[in-house]
Amino acid sequence: MSYPLEPSPEDMREMGEAALGFVVDFLRGLPDTPASDYDGAEEFRRGFREDVPLDGVRFEAALDTVRRATAKGVNTAGPGFLGYIPGGGLFAASLADLLANTINRFVNLWYTAPAAAQIEWNVVRWMCDLFGYPAEARGVLTSGGSMANFSAIVTARRALLPEDFLAGTMYVSDQAHASLSKAAALAGFPPRNVRIVPSSEDLHLDVDALRVAVEADRRDGLRPFLVVASAGTTNTGAVDPIAELLTFARVQGLWLHVDGAYGGFFQLTDRGRALFEGIGEADSITLDPHKGMFLPYGTGCLLVRDGARLREAHFVSQDYLQDLAPEAEVPNFAEYSPELSRDFRGLRVWLPLKLHGLEAFRGALDEKLDLARYLHDALTETPGLTLPWRPELTVVPFWLQPPGASPDETNALNRRLLERINASRRVFMSSTLVRGRFVIRPCIVVHRTHRDRIDEAIDVTRKAVADLTGS
Ligand SMILES: *Cc1c(COP(=O)(O)O)cnc(C)c1O
Repeated sequence: MSYPLEPSPEDMREMGEAALGFVVDFLRGLPDTPASDYDGAEEFRRGFREDVPLDGVRFEAALDTVRRATAKGVNTAGPGFLGYIPGGGLFAASLADLLANTINRFVNLWYTAPAAAQIEWNVVRWMCDLFGYPAEARGVLTSGGSMANFSAIVTARRALLPEDFLAGTMYVSDQAHASLSKAAALAGFPPRNVRIVPSSEDLHLDVDALRVAVEADRRDGLRPFLVVASAGTTNTGAVDPIAELLTFARVQGLWLHVDGAYGGFFQLTDRGRALFEGIGEADSITLDPHKGMFLPYGTGCLLVRDGARLREAHFVSQDYLQDLAPEAEVPNFAEYSPELSRDFRGLRVWLPLKLHGLEAFRGALDEKLDLARYLHDALTETPGLTLPWRPELTVVPFWLQPPGASPDETNALNRRLLERINASRRVFMSSTLVRGRFVIRPCIVVHRTHRDRIDEAIDVTRKAVADLTGS
């Protein structure tokens, strides 16, 4: 028996209670759920193929499909997720999405939902305040860091280059996130306009190498316009020298964009603030609340210091929206973003901050910084492991270096080491290549990861090393 599109209050309550029951059980079971499970994943996936349902089913049956679908793959919500960066997902954000999707207000032009738009503007303004951005700063909540980097590049292009912009060149380090090259391509720049500047020995953007590249391009008649600093690289968590880059950018007339998708929210901590010195003067900053604020996937943010620049790059007038008021104290976010209709993301950021308070986030991020140092020290004491970079944030890169092994042998061995670690199913780590070397890179960003799980990660890693080296 299917439900009508407008279910009865009784049915809504029954479905809602069943969904809530699932959510609470799911979260309670997370610590004992495998960190990853790929056994038979292909066949498992095929079991979920289906034709479009012509008749509806009861909610319990649909919920059962969702419950079963959480098996297999990587458990990105759990405490053992030390893989890629975003994970976790705050319960408060789940509630916010239920509320936001129910009231379904349109916040992208303030006049249709003045108070909801104000709530979202509060959130953006709080993020501006975190970096000391002035009153004229503006920002938008995006679907993630990739879209924020995209709008940042478009904004810098519009602000500093003519309409015919193909002489423009931008500069990123060889450790920068791939979303920047992708964004450059989407913004109309062929790959040759994106200069990959070599990083220094410790994987920071090398300002001397940058200077050489910019000056050579100017001599060739090109127009350098943008440099990107990473406030925490995805590979190893290295923080580029923002203050130094700022001075360089000012002298050279370049836009300085800080990609803080991974690390930006560590600005809440004393250690992060010290590392990010100068960030408040940057022209734009990418943040990912779905990383550093532990929110579910789908929430990024771009802040632009001179907000008018962001609007100039995105505003197009629309006749059919003529009834809506021009922006007042609250920005019309649609005029600052590629998007028109979209979800009320602001509530997903606002509700967790309201329920937990900013201090809870500061404390959790500080804890993750401590855990990364703790993991680093423990692995450093493990014979055979090499950890050349002390974590600046919460990525702890390491590899097993057997004496006398060739680079290829070492890489193959580390691939096996990673497989063994992940076969524990208590933690899930991922790897990267740093200058051709296979590096395992546990990354601690899930709010549910605490000392006990890091102790397990240490045990699991040591046992895997012992198994592989026969020691
Ligand atoms: C994750 C990440 C991105 C991309 O963000 P998405 O939210 O995945 O689109 C960009 N830059 C850095 C440094 C990142 O860590």
